[in-house]
Amino acid sequence: MNQSDSKGVDILAVCAHPDDAELNCAGLLLMAKAKGARAAVLDLTRGEAASRGTPEIRQNEAAVATRLLGLSARDNLGLADGQLAVQTETIQRIVAKIRHYRPRMVITSHWDDHHPDHQSTSMLVRQACYLSGIGNFPLDSADDKAAPHRPEQVLFYLDRLGHTPHLVQDVSTVFDKKLAAVKCYASQLYDIDTQEVTTPLAAADFLEQWQSRHRYYGSLIGVRYGEAYVLRSPVPINNPLDLLWGRDGIV
Ligand SMILES: [Zn+2]
Repeated sequence: MNQSDSKGVDILAVCAHPDDAELNCAGLLLMAKAKGARAAVLDLTRGEAASRGTPEIRQNEAAVATRLLGLSARDNLGLADGQLAVQTETIQRIVAKIRHYRPRMVITSHWDDHHPDHQSTSMLVRQACYLSGIGNFPLDSADDKAAPHRPEQVLFYLDRLGHTPHLVQDVSTVFDKKLAAVKCYASQLYDIDTQEVTTPLAAADFLEQWQSRHRYYGSLIGVRYGEAYVLRSPVPINNPLDLLWGRDGIV
């Protein structure tokens, strides 16, 4: 699926595999969309190395989830699953997409993640976001003529490894929809009738674990469900009162 939109987006999630965005940052995308923002997802691979499902099945699953989330665009670089590495050609291809979609915010994996593809994606996206703003950074294809563009903010979502979040997005009101988007990827999840191999994602209690993480992160800010993010640079405070959001203090 290479559904693209030339009008640009406010937020672009760049993820290694179809379902990464749904599992990790779909709540923030839904909350932003409710505020009128345009959000898109760029998957770097088609997930063809996964132990379960096929690229065709995963493509169809991603299409259904994309419609459910109301994304403005969903794109796929078609890179080799399980072989993502920080190399210039891949950075050039991501830069071309950043200059095409021109997001103000980019979301990607944390660099210290259990999956090597997620680690590589984090480093690739960090470097691409910076290099995209350099006017004469050479691109792989002469057809990529979009002007330089550097996103204002890069957020790194937390997956299974424990890191202290810098930001927690309250996703309580959209959690049911996020869960429904994850369940679109049925080939990756628990199925009592399947003969396919079991993976951590396909374990019978995976969704319970996943939901519990959201409950934990939500508890850190006093809400039911949260998504956790870290930043590499501090958030500037312009108005100190912006730090007050009307809840009892959590210390
Ligand atoms: Zn993944």
